Amino acid sequence: MLIETELWKPPTTRAIRRANEILLAQYGEKIARKRDPLDGIIVIMLSQATNDLNCDRAFSSLKSAFPSWEGVLPAPVETIADAIRVGGLANQKASRIKKLLHEIYDEQGDLDLSWMHDASAERCRAFMEKFKGVGPKTIACVLVFFLDKPAFPVDTHVFRVTKRLGWIREKAGTNEAHKVLEAAIPDDCKLNLHCNIIQHGRAICRADGNGGPRCEECVLIRHCAFAKTRFSTEVIRASRGGSTPFPANSDFFVTVE
Ligand code: SF4
Repeated sequence: MLIETELWKPPTTRAIRRANEILLAQYGEKIARKRDPLDGIIVIMLSQATNDLNCDRAFSSLKSAFPSWEGVLPAPVETIADAIRVGGLANQKASRIKKLLHEIYDEQGDLDLSWMHDASAERCRAFMEKFKGVGPKTIACVLVFFLDKPAFPVDTHVFRVTKRLGWIREKAGTNEAHKVLEAAIPDDCKLNLHCNIIQHGRAICRADGNGGPRCEECVLIRHCAFAKTRFSTEVIRASRGGSTPFPANSDFFVTVE
């Protein structure tokens, strides 16, 4: 048990900023690049149940087969699936992509989402929420990585690490995590915290099935609810607090050009 539900409080801005500073010192600053938001929605759909490399390969193959998204509208699902086969779950993803493109076309009469660059994050969010299968994580990823607007996607690493830190309730699901973290994390910290927590989750605060957390080497040990349940105050104070250098890593599923 990390933190009893009735004892849990959302993280303070000060605690979040401190964690952001620590992770920035460890993993560095991240920069978002503005790109086509429809590319973003599709690549995030393709990222389901595959690794970053095969997701990028599937996206590149899809763009080669269909240089414009309008070309996907009349295409048979099997043809779309053939183009994305390398990313796995090809038939399911092809069907979802085709359906989504039709829904967007029916909604606005074309597939041009470039207007989102000049629209508010709220308007972009409200538009994307209309479409079935476009959930909070996809929306947040498109906002932050393709539109350079403030949002905080919660993927499996972010969910695990923020839960261990005590930033979300132990019993919180991903929807609650999105709501709590979006509200609590200052906009200017969102991109860096999201990316750096993922790196931290891969390198140090690993899933139980993947070696588990390496708390003794963790730069966040003095700020972590889980560590406080596991180690004495003396041990935490005496910890190396992350003196081990970690390799830089820009390996994210949104690497696609
Ligand atoms: S102290 Fe342990 S549980 Fe807490 S963030 Fe670091 S590795 Fe994860």
